Amino acid sequence: MESTVSSRPFSPAAEARARVAAIRDKLTKKGGLVAAVVGGGKSGEAAIDLLRAHGAEVRLFDDRAITVAGLVAAPIEHAAFEQVDVVVLSPGVPRRHPELQPAIARHKLVGEVELASWFVRAPMIGITGTNGKSTTTALVGKIFETAGQRVFAGGNLGEPLSRLALATDAVDVAVVELSSYQLESIVTASFRVGCWLNIAPDHTDRYDSIDEYAAAKRRVLDRRTHDGVAVLNAKDKFCSGIGVRTGGPIRWFAAADASDLAGPMGTRLEGITTALRTDDGVEERYALSAPWIVGMHNRANACAAIECARAMNVAPDAVQAGLDAFGGLPHRLELVRDVDDSRWFNDSKATNIESVSTALAALANRRIVWIAGGRDKGAPWSPLAEMVEDRVEAVLAIGEATPIVEAAFGAKVERLETLERAVARAAELVAPGVDVLLSPGCASFDQFKDYAERGDVFRRLVGALA
Ligand code: ADP
Repeated sequence: MESTVSSRPFSPAAEARARVAAIRDKLTKKGGLVAAVVGGGKSGEAAIDLLRAHGAEVRLFDDRAITVAGLVAAPIEHAAFEQVDVVVLSPGVPRRHPELQPAIARHKLVGEVELASWFVRAPMIGITGTNGKSTTTALVGKIFETAGQRVFAGGNLGEPLSRLALATDAVDVAVVELSSYQLESIVTASFRVGCWLNIAPDHTDRYDSIDEYAAAKRRVLDRRTHDGVAVLNAKDKFCSGIGVRTGGPIRWFAAADASDLAGPMGTRLEGITTALRTDDGVEERYALSAPWIVGMHNRANACAAIECARAMNVAPDAVQAGLDAFGGLPHRLELVRDVDDSRWFNDSKATNIESVSTALAALANRRIVWIAGGRDKGAPWSPLAEMVEDRVEAVLAIGEATPIVEAAFGAKVERLETLERAVARAAELVAPGVDVLLSPGCASFDQFKDYAERGDVFRRLVGALA
């Protein structure tokens, strides 16, 4: 007999979801699934543990010769994937890797977040954007925690989502930081709140255009639950424009006041230290006076977090308590010393010129001693010229990039070579009204293991000052 169902058009996305649902069923029923994990980093290792916990046989693939969780990695090679039920991709391996294409075409490739989502019972808040993901994810996590809820905050930040999927203790909510790479390989995972902070050109090595990059990001909106809410930046024309076109309920946020915004609003600024949230004519006000809220970018993150938490019905006073209890993340404009009207900031995470620009803008109305340098990434420093000219007292150059920093800022530059010498020199230059900013605009690898080690060294050196 002819099936009536088969005559219905079947979209590629629906086909992918159906195929992935079948893989999921086989795994959840411990049906002897054979899985390939591609990429043996932190996410890959968590995926191996999760797959094994559900009785799967796991094989590891990586173009580096590594051993993870007792598995020796084989090179990424398409023929090997023909013999497995599912290929689980880590975000560190590009989806466009040629050897992955047959598995993608057959809808048997999923990302680590997709895999983990099959075992996460709690509602998920997905947070993406070019900048501010980690800060906002940690802040939303803090708000839920302060409200007395059991919360997981991780994903791209901290612990992979598979660690939550493996945990025996239940949580009430999962706040998941999502990079575009993780979003690309989500198929059935869905979010109660999909928050898109902003978009700027990034990852030009892995995307052909900003549209392709944005298409990955918008999946946080496309993959909302039936009762899901989008939280979008009204000031970011690109992400808000795409967001509106995806439909569904939208809550807006913006680090701007009403005069700067058109149309209905969720959370915006009222003056500089208050966030005003309106919902169906009801107004709520939140003080943005916690020390970590430095700069408009952090006000934007705070406004977004307010919307995410309120979308899940966290009470306003608990939201306020969370905003106040959050201490900011280390290495992101982290206040490490505040003495005699002179503040010292560790912004070691600022490894590109745009982040430095954000930091300099955040310290408006202050004079600045700026520690810059490390391994240069090749982008022009000229966008900083005006701010440096106007407000920077001295540029203390360290590391390999010293000649480039000198070429950009001329007479203001002093050659200090090391962070240790730069901190000592900064201590000689500070005065009331002058802040010291480590915001390198460079990678750290010429002198440090990573940006975190650079920031830790800075914090320790500053802590040792009299
Ligand atoms: P991500 O996880 O997206 O890299 P982080 O929260 O780690 O973002 O912040 C990294 C840097 O990005 C910060 O040091 C700051 O310079 C910048 N930043 C943070 N939030 C924002 C924002 N909302 N808009 C623009 N830049 C931001």
